[in-house]
Amino acid sequence: MNYDLTSEQLSIKENFVKFCVKEIEPRAQMLDQASHDDVDKLIKENIRKLADIGYLGMGHEEAYGGTDLDLISQAIAGEEVAKACASTFLSCGASSGLFGMPLRFFGSEAQKKKYIPGIIKGEILGCFGLTEPEAGTDAASIKTNAVKKGDRWVINGTKTFITNATIADVALVFAYNDREKGPGAGVTCFLVDKGTKGFSVSKPFDKMGFRGSPTAELIFEDCEVPAGAVLGEVGRGFIQAMQTLEYGRIGMATVCLGIAAKCLELANKYSKERKAFGRPINRYQEISFKIADMMIQTDVARLLIYQAAWAKQMKDPEAAVLASVAKVWASEAATQISSMAVQVHGGYGYIKEFPVERLYRDAKLGEIGEGTSEIQRILIAKDLIRKYGGK
Ligand SMILES: Cc1cc2nc3c(=O)[nH]c(=O)nc-3n(C[C@H](O)[C@H](O)[C@H](O)COP(=O)(O)OP(=O)(O)OC[C@H]3O[C@@H](n4cnc5c(N)ncnc54)[C@H](O)[C@@H]3O)c2cc1C
Repeated sequence: MNYDLTSEQLSIKENFVKFCVKEIEPRAQMLDQASHDDVDKLIKENIRKLADIGYLGMGHEEAYGGTDLDLISQAIAGEEVAKACASTFLSCGASSGLFGMPLRFFGSEAQKKKYIPGIIKGEILGCFGLTEPEAGTDAASIKTNAVKKGDRWVINGTKTFITNATIADVALVFAYNDREKGPGAGVTCFLVDKGTKGFSVSKPFDKMGFRGSPTAELIFEDCEVPAGAVLGEVGRGFIQAMQTLEYGRIGMATVCLGIAAKCLELANKYSKERKAFGRPINRYQEISFKIADMMIQTDVARLLIYQAAWAKQMKDPEAAVLASVAKVWASEAATQISSMAVQVHGGYGYIKEFPVERLYRDAKLGEIGEGTSEIQRILIAKDLIRKYGGK
């Protein structure tokens, strides 16, 4: 087994490190502390900057302006973006990944032509609307309906916690068109453009972390869309959503890796500089062992992410469970590592001027978004029982 990155992957890493340290990281604190209106403006600028260096096109076909790079290369670039600013990673991922990947895999030629080149350039922003006020983990219990009226569909319902809701030009919306088929079976995915009559967006939520990435509700009140707004086939929406979330889980694991790696870097630097009792605090085992643990957990997260990315790339049937494994580890590692980083910084770690304070708040989302840790463990356990549990 060869663990070396290819020369192309090494150069991606080098370019993204340089770019993100110069262009994205210096804006992270400002983005975190900005007003909602300023967040919308600043995050769009960050997305455009990253689009200009090809980040949003890495997972898209060349025919539409993408570079169609492998998933490990995408994770390498993603780690650097997340290290610089986790909010920017999340908003880019919601647009080019959660919105863009279903378009890539299930969209018609006309739909891809309409949206993908703009998504890659950061000129069109997308979002993914699955979660509802009463249905998150239990996504098959969504209440949103779509009723056929002549050659049009009428959508009614509310989606909540939607990343990019306030800045998106277009939303993917999952709705039941036929409940008789049973949980999940009669769900269809629709493309709904901003400005469509009956489609509105709530005020953004005031969040604990990822404050630089806007989150709000999508509201559909007798919202009519044409037949051409159906993504792929009618009744395939739930499967499309679940397949998209496999990519999303690798993405969420990657943003957690970026958070962990940044915390490790900051704790290392601070502990060399900060003195107590006449010595740098990294000379005390209580501190140096914390930093050693941070490194161990970060490295394991990276390896698990590369393993899941490779499996997904190779269309390995294990890919789904490996994505869950990577997500659980990386998200829980980021929560623990960011807490240790705050601890290493002592009182300064509790002050907003120090980025570990933001990273600590950001980290928690990893255990919730794209499927909670609990549901990932359920999926992993079910897979183990299927393989080894007997009848
Ligand atoms: C900042 C942010 C951004 C988001 N972005 C998006 C987005 O862009 N698009 C989108 O569609 N969604 C998005 N989400 C929603 C996110 O995916 C959901 O919040 C998540 O799936 C959990 O759903 P829930 O909040 O309804 O929690 P619930 O499903 O109500 O879960 C509550 C608790 O119960 C546990 N639980 C539930 N069922 C079980 C079970 N069977 N066994 C054991 N424990 C269980 C959960 O693990 C959790 O601990 C976002 C959320 C946040 C906070």
